[in-house]
Amino acid sequence: MDTQRVAYGYCDMCNQVPKCGMKLHLDGDRIVRVEDRENYPAGPLCVKGLAILEEQYHTDRLLYPLKRTSPKGSPDAGWTRISWDEAYATIAAKLNEVKAKYGPEKVGFFVGDPKEPRPAVQRLAYTFGSPNYGTESSLCSRATVMASQLTFGLVTGGGRPTKETGTCLIWTRNLAHTGPFEMARLERARKQGVKFVVIDPRITGTVQQLADLHLRLRPGTDGALAMGMIHLMVKEGLFDHDFASRWTSGLPELTKYAEEFSPEEVERITGVPREQVAEAVRLLAAHRPVTWIGSPSATVHSSNGLQNHRAILCLLALTGDFDAPGGLTIPTHPLPVNMFGSNTEFTRERDLFPKLREKRIDKNRFPVWARFNSEIQMNLLPEYVQEGQIKAMVMFGANAMMWPQSRLYQEAIGKLEFSVAADYFLRPWTHNFVDLVLPAAMALERMNPVAIFGRKIYLREPAVPPLGEAKPDWVIAFEIGSRLGYGKEFWNGDETQALNSILGSVGLTVDDLRKGGAEGVTVPASGPEQFRKYESGLLRADGKPGFETPSGKVELMSQILEEYGFDGLPRYKEPVESPLSTPELAREFPLVLNSGSRLLMFTHSKLRELPSLHKLMPFAVVNIHPKDAGAQGISQHDDVDLESPHGCIRLKANITEQVLPGVIDVSHGWPDANVNEIVPRYFDPISGFPAFKEGLCRVRKAGGAS
Ligand code: SF4
Repeated sequence: MDTQRVAYGYCDMCNQVPKCGMKLHLDGDRIVRVEDRENYPAGPLCVKGLAILEEQYHTDRLLYPLKRTSPKGSPDAGWTRISWDEAYATIAAKLNEVKAKYGPEKVGFFVGDPKEPRPAVQRLAYTFGSPNYGTESSLCSRATVMASQLTFGLVTGGGRPTKETGTCLIWTRNLAHTGPFEMARLERARKQGVKFVVIDPRITGTVQQLADLHLRLRPGTDGALAMGMIHLMVKEGLFDHDFASRWTSGLPELTKYAEEFSPEEVERITGVPREQVAEAVRLLAAHRPVTWIGSPSATVHSSNGLQNHRAILCLLALTGDFDAPGGLTIPTHPLPVNMFGSNTEFTRERDLFPKLREKRIDKNRFPVWARFNSEIQMNLLPEYVQEGQIKAMVMFGANAMMWPQSRLYQEAIGKLEFSVAADYFLRPWTHNFVDLVLPAAMALERMNPVAIFGRKIYLREPAVPPLGEAKPDWVIAFEIGSRLGYGKEFWNGDETQALNSILGSVGLTVDDLRKGGAEGVTVPASGPEQFRKYESGLLRADGKPGFETPSGKVELMSQILEEYGFDGLPRYKEPVESPLSTPELAREFPLVLNSGSRLLMFTHSKLRELPSLHKLMPFAVVNIHPKDAGAQGISQHDDVDLESPHGCIRLKANITEQVLPGVIDVSHGWPDANVNEIVPRYFDPISGFPAFKEGLCRVRKAGGAS
């Protein structure tokens, strides 16, 4: 009998949403080969996607629920296999105990990486009665979203160039590593005449492949550079007067503030030569419309990140190309199902969350965050635990290593009265501090969520059953909910019924998507795509022309920020520790620390266990300029100590001109060289985001070449 067949799925090896399609070749119940999926909007597969079977069939996969037999924090947790029944009974008993003793809000719910469990876990939190659900978006993406909501009254992270585009401004995003499949499209756009201005401290693959002009700034000074560009746009009359006077508020205040950012001053702060700043401004003005591809995190990973990002958005507003064809466009008819394959009815943000929000634990410390986000700002977890505001946690894909001064987060998790974590692998960094671990099914073994591209929806059928006793994360959340007594709210664990409830909002069912097969199903739009929707009232709930902001305009000066006591202007502030703000400290620690750069072969701390990817980068490195290495007598691959005022790690030197002199670049996620141990806990006061890209450090030779 022929046991060979083909199935279709999609990758989840990185956080790109939506993700690349996969064509899977199976022999019986085993996937034997993976390749690009034909006629699918995202692909080809990158090295991570091509390694998915190494992850799927890795011998270290977590396959059974485990409970610890040694005290938390012990080097060996003494994990013992238990049944799902025992695991669920324990979870339900412990959560109900905390609920009875302290209240349901004392149970925190968290989703890290992958992001796919988010809707199900959010639903679980609110159904249980806790508003204290958070995700890794506490330090990725949400701050840029907030900046956009404050400025434009809507969400935009940028737009891809079209045939009408004149210039594409890429601000600190290395798509060559984070979205390799997008690079081919951008290169095509470049060949068709689109100009690319790339802002990045490093010479990245994106810079090498696309940049007509590359501005290399000191990390953490994005706001000063954007203000310097605004200064020149105003001075040389290179902004859209008509758009700015009709559709923005705060123009006089912003232009007055921009006077402080002369080319000389901007060069002093950012390190970008004044001629290059002027060239960039003139290039944007000469090649309109301008669109923008922003980073979801790099610009906001500083202690003034949200305002820095707002300065970039103000610059974009002044081009006048907002929602113009070829400019920074907004979809006219977005689907009522979001990129996580869910909606606010499913997550219960509409009915339950409003009644719970008073009990959210971040509302006093980060009120602007709490206004815009239903999920809580999780970065103060150690404080929440210390103050008794969180007593137990349910976590999916959590890793304490993601936070600055990570050990404080390990300790906080270890102090909880109860914690459970679902994951693909045992990750000692975090799991050494939890009570139970649960085995999560991998991407090719699970159904939810669907993949959405514009108005097209693809069902993901599990290609194979989960290995061992692993279960899909949505099912785990549903079964925990059912054990807690909410069986009806969780369809008694049936995720097909759950998916039908979401798809109902677009008039579809799982069966409809099945009939669509590998080609997917297109949901017809209710009308044609429209541009400059602010003129026709399509951006406001009341149907009036303008933007959904308090002033009805693009808020160069934010009324909401002023309402909360913050500066309404996108005011630039030097990093807390920097060569300019703390010159004495900088004499001791003369280098700027740029941490968190993405690598092509890994996703954060994930995938290092896969042989084909590990061999591409077998150890942690610090990227250092030849001048800085020479000053310390450091040779290639010497062991070095990378030290900040807050800690020290040891890794190997990679000497490269791809980093600026005076700037150190380090990727995160190495268990034995976790750069977050040397990053201080300075948080942006508006967004709560950490300052991964602005601190001070020094590098010294540790023990000679190895
Ligand atoms: S970019 Fe790579 S890792 Fe990300 S979805 Fe595509 S193939 Fe997977």
